[in-house]
Parts: sequence; C-alpha cells; structure tokens
Amino acid sequence: MIQEINIRVKPSIIEDSEELKKTFAEELNISVQQIIEFKILKRSIDARSRNIVFQLKVQVGIQEKIPVTNQFFSKKKDVKNAKPTIIVGAGPAGIFAAIELIQLGIKPVVIERGENVKDRRRDLAAINKTHRVNPESNYCFGEGGAGTYSDGKLYTRSNKRGNVKKVLSILIEHGASPDIAVDAHPHIGTNKLPNIIVSMREFIIECGGEVHFNTKVLDFLIKDDAIIGVDTNKGEFIANNVILATGHSARDIFRKLNEKKILIEAKSFALGVRIEHPQGLIDKIQYKCDSRGDYLPPASYSMVTQTKYKPVYSFCMCPGGIIAPCATAPGEIVTNGWSPSKRNNPYSNSGIVVAVDANDFKPFEEHGNLAALEYQSSVEQKAWEMGGKTQVAPAQRMIDFVNGKTSTSLPKTSYHPGIKSVELREVLPKAVSLALQHAFKDFGRKMQGYYTNEAILHATESRTSSPVKIPRNNETLEHPQIKGLYPCGEGAGYAGGIMSAAIDGQRCAEMIANKLG
Ligand SMILES: Cc1cc2nc3c(=O)[nH]c(=O)nc-3n(C[C@H](O)[C@H](O)[C@H](O)COP(=O)(O)OP(=O)(O)OC[C@H]3O[C@@H](n4cnc5c(N)ncnc54)[C@H](O)[C@@H]3O)c2cc1C
Repeated sequence: MIQEINIRVKPSIIEDSEELKKTFAEELNISVQQIIEFKILKRSIDARSRNIVFQLKVQVGIQEKIPVTNQFFSKKKDVKNAKPTIIVGAGPAGIFAAIELIQLGIKPVVIERGENVKDRRRDLAAINKTHRVNPESNYCFGEGGAGTYSDGKLYTRSNKRGNVKKVLSILIEHGASPDIAVDAHPHIGTNKLPNIIVSMREFIIECGGEVHFNTKVLDFLIKDDAIIGVDTNKGEFIANNVILATGHSARDIFRKLNEKKILIEAKSFALGVRIEHPQGLIDKIQYKCDSRGDYLPPASYSMVTQTKYKPVYSFCMCPGGIIAPCATAPGEIVTNGWSPSKRNNPYSNSGIVVAVDANDFKPFEEHGNLAALEYQSSVEQKAWEMGGKTQVAPAQRMIDFVNGKTSTSLPKTSYHPGIKSVELREVLPKAVSLALQHAFKDFGRKMQGYYTNEAILHATESRTSSPVKIPRNNETLEHPQIKGLYPCGEGAGYAGGIMSAAIDGQRCAEMIANKLG
C-alpha cells in the first residue's frame, strides 16, 4: 500500500535515504524492509526554535512501488504551417506563452531585442568590467528575460496549484532539478537557468516555431483598431494576434504606446536600496547558532513594516548572492541580485523597498501616464551622477544612513563595478529615505543583529515592478482599444516574478487559442 505521512526530521539525515527510511518505518510502526521506496512530496525548514528541523510530506511505498505519474506538459507538435501568433519578448512570459501556443496548435513567432542567452554573457561582463551598458542586451534584456541571471526563485503568491505545478513541470522537463517541485521555497540559480532556457528555445524551434534574436519591435501595425503585426529593426512581422511581453524595463515600448494614444496607466511600484550583509550574520540570526553547519542551506529572510511614512518590505532576497548592475541604458544605476544554485557566496542581499504612488509622482505630472516611469528614471539617473557617472553605485553603511552620517569607509561588496560612499538621502526621494530610516530600526528589533554598520546599502533598487500598467479586458485579456493585442507579464502589470509571468504567458496563449477556436 501507499501511505502519506507528515514528519519532522533532523537536518543531518536529510540527504541520507537509509536513515530517512528508518525514521519513516518508525513513524509507521513497520520494519525498514517493508519500505520499497519513498517519495518526498514537500520539504520545508522549520527554524523557529534552536532545534531546527526539516518538515517533510512523504509518500511511502509499503511492500509496493509508488506508481509513476509522469504528465508531460511540453509535448512535441508540428506547428510549422499553423497560424502564427507574435510574441514580443523572450522572458518567462514570452517563452511559456510560446510553449503553450504549441500545445494548442498555434505557431509562436518570438521576437527578442537582446542576444541569445549564451552571447548575453559578454554584455554582462562588459557592464561589470568596463561599465558599458548595451541598451539591447543586459541583465534585463535578452533571451530568458530579466530573471535569467538571477537567483531563480520560483515562489509565487498564486494559489492555483495546477498552474504552478505546470510551470515547474515544464522547467523540470527542460533540465531543472526535480527538487523544485518539492521545496517550499524552490530556486534554480544563475548557473543552471541558461541551459534550461536553451532547451526551451530548441523545443520551440523543433516544433516549427520561430525565435528571432537582436530583433527589436519599434512600432505596432494597426488597422481598424486591430493589430496586424509589428515593425522591427529587421522589418515587418505580420499576425493578427500579438502577445506583448516586453517586461518592466521596456521604456521605449511604453513611450511608443503612449505616443500612439494606445491606453497605458501610471502604476505604483516600490523603490529603495539593495542591502548586503555577510551571509554568516544572517545564518547566525535566523538559525540562532554560530554556524549553520553542513546540512542547512544559507538562511534567508523576508520582512515588512508599516512605518508612519510608508510601507517598507524586503524584496527578492538572495542568500549567498551577488548584487548585479541591472541598468538597461547608459546614465542610470539599477541594482538587483542573483545567486548560483548552491548559494555559496559569502554575502546575502535583498532589496529593501518603499511603496511609492501617485503622490510621489506628482512632480512628474506633466508626463501623464508616464509620470511613474519618469520618477523612477530620475532617481536612477541621480544615483548614476552621485556614483561618478559610471556603473559605480552610491552606497552607505546602514546605521550611518539612519543617522545621516557619510560613511568614512565601506566594507567589501559583491557588486562588481564598485561602490562610492555618499549620503544616500541625496539620491533617494525624501519620503523614501524617511520610510527606510524607520524601517531599518524596526527590522533590527525584529531580527536581532540585522541593524548593523556591517551592512551596506546600494542605490538604487528601482525595478521591482512595472511603473506602467497596460490595461486589458479581464475576460479576453485583449487591450480594450486594440483587438488582438495581449498585454502580458510583468511589464504590463500582470505579474511579479518568474512564476507569475510564466503563468500569465500561458493564460494569454490559452485566450488566443479559445478565440481562434
Ligand atoms: C537580476 C534579477 C534577479 C531576479 N530574480 C528573480 C528571482 O529570483 N525570482 C523571480 O521570481 N523573479 C526574479 N526577478 C524578476 C523576474 O526576472 C521578472 O519578474 C520576470 O523576468 C518577468 O518576466 P516577463 O517575461 O514578464 O518580462 P522580462 O523577463 O522582463 O522579459 C521581457 C523581454 O522582452 C524583451 N523586450 C523588451 N522590449 C522589447 C522590444 N521592443 N522588442 C523585442 N523584445 C523586447 C526583453 O529583452 C526581455 O527579454 C529578477 C530580476 C532581475 C533583473
């Protein structure tokens, strides 16, 4: 028989299948020999007390094998001669939309302004080493989108397990570790993501889909309020359905839509800094011990506080990570973080961001629907100026920032282009600085040891979500003015992270298939 159990086990046996079997046998009151095999269905860490344990949900095969339930979500189909749908952007939304379209018998034509995932590395190295930002290929633009060189965290607040399972299964089918389907907080890592993305692209092409790199959409071809294609630097592409999945940093796309009077809306987002602590310190705080030892993963944290000024929260925490220069154009500083799959760097970083809204964008009112975007851009430019007009990021120690004191020295940072000591209050808008100052003290109360001058703040963490929303009909997912135009993913305001962007891509693909019948 097959039995499911929930059980807590010591970290030291988590990788030892014989010891695990013994523990399960004891729990079930059976002999070890009766267990033919077991399958871990869910795994999380409970570090609330000093006695840290792994919490497992396990399927145990007692005197029988566990039935294999392989359900493939990327099934090969020949769509070479099928009706085309254009997908602009090869981020998670675009790639998952393409795979879904294939399943539904539609030919995806993916148009991506940046380089393929391997050649993109050259452009990332250039930003880090020579401070040269290629506006077409960088940490946000290029095959795989913004999340490619990331921590690859696959968390989502989506409570539709079916959707989440489908995305995770597709990632596994293309080379991700099956652990992502088990872990409560799965992540892939920068070193593993590129090969997974290459496998997905090869799948799309083998099925007869098209993927065009270094191809930038410059304009939308519209006739009688319906889209009929897009114009690019390589010529026109024609199709009656276009999924627009260009991400939160495609400012030229937002400007083009606005210029053509295709409805967009300014949207609140979050702005702040990327903070870096030694990973050992975060482990010590979270695991309440001097060292996390050999069995526990680098610790993470998630925090939120409602200051009297504005809400502040941690964002995209990367244990054992590196802070990345994520500008998409020269003349701006943008930070974010990534980690390798082992999360084995000596630093931990996280965005600490403040929710900003229409009140904050008021000085940019003249830009109408682009007010939030121009506000965001002005802070990034200020950071660039204060950093010395290269990719060097303006920085300050945490307690110095709170006390309004310029740091006389800065500790080592993982941010490769380097940092410069400045008063960050001169970079950030006043409302953001005030909220952050209060939040850091509060975080220090919640996590003893977190509020320390060993921590460095790097400006700016500004691309947390899109500053623009592209509206769409709730039912058809089409733009309310333009038939056949499907605003999709994070850039349009319908996702916040890899998982939700992928799920939104799949939804848009389904809607197109429904429409085509
Ligand atoms: C460094 C970093 C780390 C991150 N870490 C995580 C993480 O661990 N977990 C997580 O969930 N999220 C993470 N994110 C956020 C995540 O990457 C995004 O939420 C997600 O990629 C959004 O997917 P998307 O497909 O909507 O847009 P994007 O991934 O932004 O993709 C948009 C694509 O469109 C292309 N494009 C733009 N304009 C045009 C045009 N005019 N013509 C043609 N193509 C165009 C871009 O080049 C890009 O490839 C991270 C982001 C960064 C930058």
